[in-house]
Amino acid sequence: MNDNEYSGATEAELSFLKEIVRMLPAGLTVQDAHGELLLVNDAAAAQLGIDGSRPSPDLAPRREACRRALRAGQAVVMEEALHGGAARQVLLTTHRPVRLAGRELLISASSDITEQKNFEDQLFRSAYFDELTGLPSRRVIEHRAASLLAENSGSGRFALAFLDVDNFKHINDYYGHAVGDALLVELSKRLGRDLRDSDMLSRISGDEFLLLLSPIQSVEEVAEFIQSTLERLTAPFFIDNSEIFASTSVGVSLYPDHGGSFEALRQNADIAMYRVKNDGKGSAAFFDSSMEREALARMKIEQSLRLAILEKRFCCAFQSKVDIRTQAVKGIEALVRLRDDEGVIQAPGSFIDLAGELGLIDELTHLVLAEIVRSIDAINATFGAEATISINVAAKQAGNPEFMRSFARALEETGFPQRFMIEVTEDAFVAKNHFQAEILPMFRKLGVGISIDDFGTGYSSLSALADITADEIKIDRSFITDIHKRPRSQGILRAIESLSEALGMTVIAEGLESFEELAYLQAATKIRYAQGYYFSRPIFLEELKLATPFSSEARTNVASRPHQQNRQGYSRASGYRR
Ligand code: C2E
Ligand code: MG
Ligand code: MG
Repeated sequence: MNDNEYSGATEAELSFLKEIVRMLPAGLTVQDAHGELLLVNDAAAAQLGIDGSRPSPDLAPRREACRRALRAGQAVVMEEALHGGAARQVLLTTHRPVRLAGRELLISASSDITEQKNFEDQLFRSAYFDELTGLPSRRVIEHRAASLLAENSGSGRFALAFLDVDNFKHINDYYGHAVGDALLVELSKRLGRDLRDSDMLSRISGDEFLLLLSPIQSVEEVAEFIQSTLERLTAPFFIDNSEIFASTSVGVSLYPDHGGSFEALRQNADIAMYRVKNDGKGSAAFFDSSMEREALARMKIEQSLRLAILEKRFCCAFQSKVDIRTQAVKGIEALVRLRDDEGVIQAPGSFIDLAGELGLIDELTHLVLAEIVRSIDAINATFGAEATISINVAAKQAGNPEFMRSFARALEETGFPQRFMIEVTEDAFVAKNHFQAEILPMFRKLGVGISIDDFGTGYSSLSALADITADEIKIDRSFITDIHKRPRSQGILRAIESLSEALGMTVIAEGLESFEELAYLQAATKIRYAQGYYFSRPIFLEELKLATPFSSEARTNVASRPHQQNRQGYSRASGYRR
């Protein structure tokens, strides 16, 4: 090998190495003692913006970092934030001072960690700020309250208000989630107006907000401020071409009067808010100790309901739906009853909503179905084997595909799904959920009938009926009571009747109690079916068995003359404490 050959090989090798350095996926630079760039590979040129991608890249921080690293005389790893226009770029760079051919140089290798950094920031933000409204999260307000408690140690006062939007679930169901979200954003803007720097508004969950007012001088001052906040909310919100009215219920607790920790203050504000909800919503109340007793009593009811479900202390009363011309029983409705701790029968009005709130209602509905299946022979003997069997399903359940799928499966497993009807209120239909489009067809396929319960009391208009596909429409009791004396209700009844007829839905009058009401329906309308105390109260099968032995005669009695024949037995059977 001669000299030429040797240096030729080195040159080839050199340019090979140069190319590799140029094309390295990591950014590589070499700077001299003044921070001037002697070598920049392609990746570094792109990272630093000196490949022409940025108009005037700012290299001063890089030079400064170089001088510092050289002075320190040892390798350092650091994050470098570069700002090119609006976008931020973050590099993770290792600077390494070296001595080469008598010169102080700095070799730097960088990788782009912008995406990781953005993700980290996002995680940070979501831990401390609510994504939708941008308000501080519960963690932040809790921290703020804790530091006030620490620095005050009893000397300064502050107020904690718990705000809950009224009927937000309805708004969400009716207008859809996008509108619900937009409403929360607008609401939080109105709530946050007029706050001082030392106050804090936080969104702690769905439609719940916490407001910390600090410092405060007097209770009156807080009451006045909350009142003006509530007044601001009374003006309608305009969202997505809809005019939406939203009110808020507020409970307030004061430090130190109502608690010495954030948790105690929050809980007591919540208790006060709950009282406002029960008293008609849309206003504010300060916590007091009588509320605490109330909350304890409520907790007891909750506990006993949980226990009742656990111990399956439920039973069903059945009420017939009667053909008002022939007196024949068309079907029956299963109405759930609870035996409380003392064995007293409770009507659903006292526990259905609570069961819904506590997430126990799905299980309850399955229990009702199980009882029907268990009693099917007695049902057939009493009401006839053709009678349809209606089960009530809460609107909240109706919009929940998971529950409805499991319920449909259970109905199918009875082996006689076509005997069943499910009763849902109109809210389930008009809500922008999956009920009408996805869930209904599932039940249709099984031959299960659909009934609109309490029609006329919900949010839908008559015109909404046109879009509803149901088999039966039950006109609410409020229209039927004294119908013969009320021309307005008569008009409404006629309108519902003709619309339902056009749409092929059976109409049934609920809560028929008197002969006069029946006479009116028979004379002035084409309504065929009715349900009500006039024909039969809800009855327990086992008590019926005691009162009248099963026979075809007993069956007719249930339909035609129970108010004379079995009245006592029935009212005892369904007698419950309200
Ligand atoms: P609903 O489905 O509209 O049931 C009719 C209610 O009216 C029953 O009250 C029944 O006893 C009562 N009723 C029937 N005829 C008359 C009458 O002539 N006059 C009067 N004043 N009332 C009459 P109940 O049994 O107390 O049930 C109340 C509500 O509880 C039901 O209203 C229904 O919405 C709900 N409910 C009952 N059972 C269940 C169930 O298993 N699941 C669900 N989700 N809800 C249920
Ligand atoms: Mg019903
Ligand atoms: Mg009803």
